[in-house]
Amino acid sequence: MTSGIIRESLEQGESYLDGLRESRVSGSPTPEEIRSHLGARYPFTEPVGAKRLVSDVGAMLERWAVHTVHPRYFGYFNPTPLPEAIAADVLAACYNPQLAVWSHGPAAVEIEQHVLRWMAGRLGLPEGRTAAHFTSGGSEANLTATIAALTAKLPGYGVSGVSGQNDEPVVYHSAAAHDSFTKICHMTGIGRRALHVVPVDGSLRLDVGALRERIVADRGDGCRPVMVVATAGTTAAGVIDPLDEVAAVCREHDLWFHIDAAWGGAALLSPVLRRHFAGIEAADSITCDAHKWLSVTMGAGMFFSRHPRILEEAFRVTTDYMPDPDAGSVDPFTTSAQWSRRFIGLRLFMALAALGESGYAEMIDHQAEMGRYMRRRLTEEGWIHRSETPLPVCCVSHPAIDGAPDAVDRVLRDVLERGRVWISKVELGEYQALRACVTSRLTREDDVDVLVEELNDAVAGLGT
Ligand SMILES: *Cc1c(COP(=O)(O)O)cnc(C)c1O
Repeated sequence: MTSGIIRESLEQGESYLDGLRESRVSGSPTPEEIRSHLGARYPFTEPVGAKRLVSDVGAMLERWAVHTVHPRYFGYFNPTPLPEAIAADVLAACYNPQLAVWSHGPAAVEIEQHVLRWMAGRLGLPEGRTAAHFTSGGSEANLTATIAALTAKLPGYGVSGVSGQNDEPVVYHSAAAHDSFTKICHMTGIGRRALHVVPVDGSLRLDVGALRERIVADRGDGCRPVMVVATAGTTAAGVIDPLDEVAAVCREHDLWFHIDAAWGGAALLSPVLRRHFAGIEAADSITCDAHKWLSVTMGAGMFFSRHPRILEEAFRVTTDYMPDPDAGSVDPFTTSAQWSRRFIGLRLFMALAALGESGYAEMIDHQAEMGRYMRRRLTEEGWIHRSETPLPVCCVSHPAIDGAPDAVDRVLRDVLERGRVWISKVELGEYQALRACVTSRLTREDDVDVLVEELNDAVAGLGT
């Protein structure tokens, strides 16, 4: 029999989620405080009983964390997970299928492929001819895109790496793109200087004219342009790059066109928001996280590409110990970066099955609506928007802050210390701004009102 620890854990987790709205969004512990608790309670010399263990772990997670699942967490793209996704996590952990090869987890592999085919269709990629897999997150998906692009565009890359190249491979993204590509350039061996950062225009979108000029200049300079990354929903300001124009540049210059839609991709499920993504169907590959706006638990990214053969080339390997592939099936370890891996996709499958596509669209539209409400309320209260986007994120400043040294930091510190809401700050070109994103499906108008109140109070307190 299993011990009661699973049931205890579920009860603990449920009572946390049920009491969420009444609690603070964050605390501010020191490393010493946590380490001394761990040192005193867990020398690992005596077994700790299930009840005590679960309640203490729950207490630690409750006390010493930013509560990213809270409806008044207006921070990065961390959702309040759907209950179906949590349930899927539990089931996946119990059955613990192994997804390296099809033959070990036929149901699991097929469930993932079923939901990925559906999602590929929503992203505008050709059904049946799109390769897709779940990843640990957006960073792994972006890494996969870069490996695929290098494999597709550089003859010999797979065998000799960059040392076999006459020209230095380079990749492009805008100054507002996600910094995972810095690490990716380091990891793939093309080096950090291979990342050519293109300026943004006045709307914080990738400047396509500047991109064209840079590509031509680089060609003349002994570089080999390989890939352009457009972002559909930038991390700081939710801006969508001009996807169709970037697609045209990639066509002209025979470059791999990757779209990083880690957060924003979910908006394609909304009939209202879809139109802002014109051009996405031209992508060679797309990153879209399920653990951001699709509201499943952490550790669920997705990678899509219209070039299955390139993935087979990039990740194929033969071993003398893995089982032979079954006819008509694909072994995930031969087309993706991971080997032994968790059943990541069950969360999106169960959430989607339970809500239906229209339920998902409603959830996303609700958050977009809360974003519009937040934008309106902040404007009414004299806040100045530093960015425009149809997606629910605001980057704002205030006349009482602008130009005052440290004022943004002081407002931020004040808001976080009070702990009623959680926000962050960003730099957008020459401006510092406060950033608030509707990332919880539970956020309501009265939560946004609390945010506005907290911001106003913090600004009013600046002079005191
Ligand atoms: C969050 C994010 C990433 C990184 O994804 P992880 O899931 O955190 O690894 C990449 N690109 C964009 C645009 C993001 O917002």
